[in-house]
Parts: sequence; C-alpha cells; structure tokens
Amino acid sequence: MDIIKMKINVANYDELVNLMLNCTKCKLHLSRRRVVPGEGPLNAKIMIIGEAPGEKEDEEGRPFVGAAGQLLTKLLNSVGIRREEVYITNVVKCRPPNNRDPEPDEIEACRPYLVTQILMIRPQIIVCLGRHSAREILTMAGYPEKSVSNISSIRGKVFSAKLGDLNVKVLPTYHPAAALYNPRLRSIIEEDLRKVKALLDKSGGGGGILDYLGS
Ligand code: URA
Ligand code: SF4
Repeated sequence: MDIIKMKINVANYDELVNLMLNCTKCKLHLSRRRVVPGEGPLNAKIMIIGEAPGEKEDEEGRPFVGAAGQLLTKLLNSVGIRREEVYITNVVKCRPPNNRDPEPDEIEACRPYLVTQILMIRPQIIVCLGRHSAREILTMAGYPEKSVSNISSIRGKVFSAKLGDLNVKVLPTYHPAAALYNPRLRSIIEEDLRKVKALLDKSGGGGGILDYLGS
C-alpha cells in the first residue's frame, strides 16, 4: 500500500477537518448525524485509534464520549496518561448504522483521512483499540493480514511500523467496549497502556527543553 500517495494535500489541519465534515465519499454519510474527525493536541506523542463512532459520538461529533470512552479515559488516567495529551480518532469518521462493523469499502474511502492525520501529527506511538483498528494500521505498515488478525495474540506487543516517511511504534490492545461486558479485559488494557506510558518515558516524554538539550 502506497501510504504517501494517499496523503491528502491540505494547507493545515483545519482544512483537513473541513474536508471530513463535508465528506460524502462513502455510504455512511447517508445515515450519520455528525462526522467525528477526532480530537487532541496536534503535537501529541500518543495517537489512539478506535473503530468507528457510536451513538453518543454521532450525536456530539466527538470521539469516545460514550460508555466505552469513559472507561478509556479512566484506564488512561490509571496509568498516568491524561486524555487531553492524546490525539484520539477512529478508522472511519461516521457512525455505521446500528453500530455494525465498518465495511471494507467504507474503510477504504476513509483511509486518506486517517493517513493524513497520522502523517500530520507524527506520533511516537499509535495505540490500536480492537482488532479492526489493529488490522487497519498494521496491514498499512505491510504486516500480512493473517499475522495481525487475532487481537488476543497481538495485544500488548510493540510493532515497528513505517507509514510513509514516519517510523512509529504500534501497540494494539482490546477495545474498551469489549471490556464493558468483560471486566477481566480492563486490567489487560491497563497493563498494555502502562507499557505505552513506559515507552514514552523512555523516549524522553517531556519534550521541550530536554529534547532541545539532547538529553
Ligand atoms: N468506539 C469506537 O471505536 N470509537 C468511538 O469513538 C466510540 C466508541
Ligand atoms: Fe467520508 Fe469517512 Fe464519513 Fe465515509 S466514513 S462519509 S469516507 S468521512
């Protein structure tokens, strides 16, 4: 997959958001209420990628604001990551009817937005929530689909990925929605997020003057 060719040529982030807000490239535009582009600092070191907006997200136009989102925020906080320091988005930006899985043509139509977001924000670590997100990002990076389709065997592992001109670590974990009805998954997601936090600290987490001094 030629990632660079998919990057949308926009002058800035706001222009990209405007394209998403007005997008009619796939059939999901017919049933959505609000488009959910994503949110967070444009210099975020962590990017979290979910699957698709749900009902609450579709109402508000913001990612992860429903029950799964509340759990995500709680799990991030429990390992010392503030939600406000993370950029959060989804594989598709519009809600699939009745929360069905996004279909291949929809994921493909929406892919240029995700690619452009990743290449603009240039995170150090991408956290994939659930198998659909993990499959999307890791196949984009050239991993064979079969090798990345089983979330229980790949979660908590750190993959090195080259997406276009960006080298990034990718860490898949379970989707917090799955942990809502299977509470045992909560501590596993927490363990995986703790790893994300450790990777970040190792790379010199704070940025700013410390990075500048080359410490
Ligand atoms: N589930 C997702 O995958 N994304 C959201 O934004 C909300 C729930
Ligand atoms: Fe456009 Fe993506 Fe929404 Fe489809 S899901 S209409 S491609 S923004």
